[in-house]
Amino acid sequence: MWNIDGKKILVTGASRGIGAETVKSLVENGAIVTISATNIDSLNKLKESLPAHNKIFPIVCDLSNHEDRNCLVAKSIEMMSGLDGLVCNAGITKDALAIRMTDNTWENVLDINLTSSFRLNADAIKFMIKQRSGSIVNISSVVGLTGNAGQSNYCASKAGLIGMTKALALESSIRGIKVNSIAPGFIKTDMTDKLTKEQLSAITSKIPLGRQGLPSEIVNGILFLLSDLSSYITGTTLHINGGMFMN
Ligand code: NAP
Repeated sequence: MWNIDGKKILVTGASRGIGAETVKSLVENGAIVTISATNIDSLNKLKESLPAHNKIFPIVCDLSNHEDRNCLVAKSIEMMSGLDGLVCNAGITKDALAIRMTDNTWENVLDINLTSSFRLNADAIKFMIKQRSGSIVNISSVVGLTGNAGQSNYCASKAGLIGMTKALALESSIRGIKVNSIAPGFIKTDMTDKLTKEQLSAITSKIPLGRQGLPSEIVNGILFLLSDLSSYITGTTLHINGGMFMN
């Protein structure tokens, strides 16, 4: 359906949640995938759990480590002999009210969620310019548009991704490269499993579709933006949020 057979894609934050689900769907559809996270055991486990494991290349990369992240795109290109797509999905939260947030907490979230994505986007674009094709998907968040108390660092990083995506789309579209972002709403993964029952039901009560989203529902958007079905879409943000925010 997606026509991504043989496409070479790098996915960050691939060990769990939305990233792992993206990898499953990509290889089911014939793609070759470099999977990256900090934890080699979970990457290997994911690889071995999938029938097409010979099309999956794990790379350990802590995105807070500048040396590691500066060579992630080059390593992926070497392992897959090319690069057609990048999914910048890795992300963290470190919540605190602004009046209590340390510089370190602010910087750590900005560094992993935004600055490392900039580095990977720029490195991927440098390669894709030569082949005059490629598709990049940056995973933002609904709270990058709405804000959320206690998450000034996370919201700033996710809003920053949307602005960065637009600027990079303007810089690279003429070379055949698409750069888009997805802003997921409230999705069932480890990230949201930390919330209490009361917090979960307070959020769910504000979602018009009346439930949390599933990782697979974000993955459909990622595959669409990676594929040629979205050949005339760049610089946009796809909102997948059950209606909790309408742009
Ligand atoms: P998750 O289950 O917590 O997984 C996070 C992924 O990021 C893991 O694979 C983790 O790998 C990786 N990661 C964390 N720190 C890293 C680091 N320093 N270096 C490299 N990789 C690192 O998260 P998720 O819910 O699937 O979220 C995926 C993306 O969607 C994130 O960008 C998140 O902000 C965004 N999002 C999620 C929701 C939601 O409701 N779940 C909503 C909006 C946006 P390790 O195995 O190394 O820890």
